[in-house]
Formats: sequence, C-alpha cells, structure tokens
Amino acid sequence: MLGAMLDETGKLVLRECPKPLVGPSEVLIKVLASGICGTDLHIFSGKIYGKPNIIRGHEFAGKIIEIGSNVKGLKIGDLVAVDPNIPCGNCYFCRRGEIHLCENLKALGVDLDGGFADYCVIPYDRAYKLPNGVSPEEGAMMEPCACALHGVEKIQIKAGDTVLIIGGGALGLILLQLAYIHGASKVFLSEPVKEKREIAKSFSAYTFDPLKDDVISEIKRLTGVGVDVAIEAVGKADTVELAINCVRRGGKVLIFGVSDQREILNISPFDIYYKEITLMGSFVNPYTNSRALELIANKRLNVKKIISHKFPLREIHKAVEMGLSGNALRILIVWEDF
Ligand SMILES: [Zn+2]
Ligand SMILES: [Zn+2]
Repeated sequence: MLGAMLDETGKLVLRECPKPLVGPSEVLIKVLASGICGTDLHIFSGKIYGKPNIIRGHEFAGKIIEIGSNVKGLKIGDLVAVDPNIPCGNCYFCRRGEIHLCENLKALGVDLDGGFADYCVIPYDRAYKLPNGVSPEEGAMMEPCACALHGVEKIQIKAGDTVLIIGGGALGLILLQLAYIHGASKVFLSEPVKEKREIAKSFSAYTFDPLKDDVISEIKRLTGVGVDVAIEAVGKADTVELAINCVRRGGKVLIFGVSDQREILNISPFDIYYKEITLMGSFVNPYTNSRALELIANKRLNVKKIISHKFPLREIHKAVEMGLSGNALRILIVWEDF
C-alpha cells in the first residue's frame, strides 16, 4: 500500500509500505477520506517539527475490513471516523480527566502511522461509528469539529455574547457555526480571502477584510465596548494581539490557531491586568468527538461547505501545494469505495 510520510530531511514523500497487521484490540480500516490539517501544512513546510518515517494524516474515516479478537461493538463493513489521540490513562493528567494533556499522549498520524495511506490500523476504542447518512468525507471532519467544540466550550460563550473570529479557514468557519450553536448573538469574522468571507456570510457572520478594514475600530463602532469573546484561528502573534485589542474589558481571548513555534507575543501586561482579560489556549479534542459527530449528523454543523478540494493520495504533493497557497478550505485525500 502507499503511505505519505516525512523523510529524514523533512520532505514529504510517498512510499510503498506493508499493509499493517491487526492486534487483538485493533481494527483495520480501508481509509476512504483523510483531511489535510493546518498543522500538517505547518509540518510539511517546516514550521513545526514532525517525526520522520511515520505515515501522516490524523483526520480520517473509512470502512472496517478486519477486526481483532477483543473488539466489541464493531463489525466488518462498519463506516467509522477516527479519534487519533491515544492517552495513556495513567499519568497525572489522565487521572484528572485531562486526557488531551497526557504526558504520554500518542497520536495516529503524528507518533503512529495515520490516515494518509490506503489502510490504517487503529485501537478499536478510537473508532466512532458514523451515524446513518454521514459520509466518510463528513466523518473525516469529526476530528477538527471536535477540536473547535473543545475550544468553544473552554472559552464558555454565553447566550447573547458577541464573538469575533479571526481567520476564516476551515476551522474558523466551524468555530463560527459553533459560536452560534452556543448562543452568540452576533459573530464577526475577519478574513482577507473574499471567497472565505462569502461562506462566512452564508453562515450569518458579519465579515471584515483585515487588508482594508480597521478591525479594531470597526469592532468598537459596532459593539460600543469590544466583543465579549475573540477567537484567534490563524496562528500568528499579530492576530493574537488583534484579538486582545478587540475584546471588551473583562473579555476573553482564545488562542486556537497553531502558530510557528518561534512566534512571540508583544502585549502589554498592564492591558491584560487593567482590562481584566482572560487569555486561554485550547488543544485538541477531549470528550468532544461523539458530540461533534452528532452535530454533523443532525445538520447543525455544515461541513460539506468547508471541504473545498479532493485529491487522490498519489497527488498529495499537489494537494499540499494547494493548501499552502492559503486559498483552500479543507482539502481531503479521498479513495473510491470498493
Ligand atoms: Zn488537525
Ligand atoms: Zn496520560
């Protein structure tokens, strides 16, 4: 089978790999759809370190074609989405219910072979059966939606809050929908690419073009005091600073975007103190996958609109190039069902 991984020099390569063997508590999946995440793009472009010789891809769904002897509740032929994160269950953090902060966290597509391959073996408790009517392509969106859901829940958007989302990429557009699901009265979204702003408008966002609009003064003008909650979904220091400058006194800022590990914030501690700002981060998706999948299944979250391109695995380099151009939303690697 084919698998996409980094070589020793950090270059993305497609290699012929052996089809994996199934352990007693594992299932073998024929991968059908696998998303290219912004984090993958950072790794492929060298902004974040990635382990070599591991098949990448951590947002995927497929069909079970083999099951281990200890597997319960799943059968051959089931369509499943995958939670790529595997906590140890035994460390300081796991024992306090913060499994995503696990000291020994292993992730499929990061530390273990993942979904940019024809087949992938996963622990069976990481599989989420797709509800009726949910396609593998939508299933591949479970993981990013679950990450966004964790973020929105962590920052605690209240009914009636005004929310600013900075960045209208795939995750920005998911966060936008989730902000409304959580009761936001008005969601603003700042994004330079017109096509992305148009999709945001179709989800009832009030949009800004940060290349033309003065976002801070527009937010002040439209809200009077600043937004209650700002979510940074770009992954840059200057957009985090923008988020901090757009919240009201007592407002909350969520750093959701994955930034270059070398980025440094230039913010005034006095402002944080005097404005009594809460600054928070959100990492991956503890206990949010099944609810994210329910939101997709019940058409509360529209992920179809967010999938902008599809490529076969052999064209993954073209797909990555498209992703790095900044004009795409979610790009999926897809396989024909068999
Ligand atoms: Zn991801
Ligand atoms: Zn742990």
